[in-house]
Amino acid sequence: MTTAKKTTPPGIRAHNVMAVFQLLFPNAQLSRTDLTRRLGLSRMAVGEVAVEMQEHRIVREVGSLQPAGRGKPSPVIAIDTAYWRVISVDLSQEYVITGALVDLCGRIVERAEMPQPRGKKALAVKDVVAFCRRLVALAGSQDDPSEDSHAILGIGITMPGIIDPKGIVVRSVALGWTNVELKKQVEDALGIPTMLSNVTNAALIAERFLGESSENSMLISLRRGVGSSLCLNDQIVRGDTFTTGEIGHIIVDPQGPRCTCGKTGCLEALLAPSRIRQMIDDAPEKRTQILAQAGQVLGRVLSVSIGLLDVHDICVYGPADIVGEAFLGSMREEVHAIIHSEYRQVPELRRCEQGEDLAMRGQAVTVIRQFVPQIRQNIAG
Ligand SMILES: [Zn+2]
Repeated sequence: MTTAKKTTPPGIRAHNVMAVFQLLFPNAQLSRTDLTRRLGLSRMAVGEVAVEMQEHRIVREVGSLQPAGRGKPSPVIAIDTAYWRVISVDLSQEYVITGALVDLCGRIVERAEMPQPRGKKALAVKDVVAFCRRLVALAGSQDDPSEDSHAILGIGITMPGIIDPKGIVVRSVALGWTNVELKKQVEDALGIPTMLSNVTNAALIAERFLGESSENSMLISLRRGVGSSLCLNDQIVRGDTFTTGEIGHIIVDPQGPRCTCGKTGCLEALLAPSRIRQMIDDAPEKRTQILAQAGQVLGRVLSVSIGLLDVHDICVYGPADIVGEAFLGSMREEVHAIIHSEYRQVPELRRCEQGEDLAMRGQAVTVIRQFVPQIRQNIAG
């Protein structure tokens, strides 16, 4: 059977591909009979989409299931991790730029690093392009001569800052960038479809699709700065000016410490890990108290948003020496004290467990979810 014979309209086809992919992602194995039942599609439609996904190396057959009684065995399929690679790059870390080749299950199969330029020599777009080129070469050199070569599905780049849907970095204070057309420049240089996203949004995508978050969830990031991300009905909320979640420079204590932005008492001035560590260094005997106070501040600041949005799944992404039980316990207590009532449940509040690669893997998942349904068009084009 060739794909040319198929009659399903492209929009429905892409929808069916995504529906099958979502059920299998990241590690499920399902028979065509299971897929038919769970998707509510006809056997023919599922058969057609499964064969096509196999031809395009999105899924592979891993066995077959013999039905009870008579009848033909039903092929069991899983995501094929051998062929497609996503290039994912994380520009959010202070001293290093990390990149990886990621398979269709969101698993890192190879990684690379380069030092983040410091001081006057800021990171330039050409540095990012050169780094992506290196990762493309890495995907080529990974090839096993006995197997097919790898194909690049797309490039994902994640960074701190405000990014518009066209792939322009509107502003990234950390990188010193304003209105940089990064997506276009990477695509022009390498000819590979590219997606950009804010690092906190990418981290929440990883928690949602590789971790434990639910379709309504919030992630608070305490890393270089302080930010947050919000997912409602499985969509990342971006806002009218793409700044949803940018809470770092909102003043929460007018009598508080001076912030790097020039204002006084911003959330970031109170809760940036570098500041909390400094306070602990100055008074090590007060470590638990300092962490508990920081957790309390975050709990107090977030309570109104939690109550307003009725989000019950909140995770904090930050270094293990800060986001521990002293911090989280005190944050929980504060949220509980502020929002608890007889009709309102207190939310689940936990630490992200996915580690340092969270944002890089999340950005790869974003690319996978965007481009897997388009693979046929890309090949045809
Ligand atoms: Zn500030």
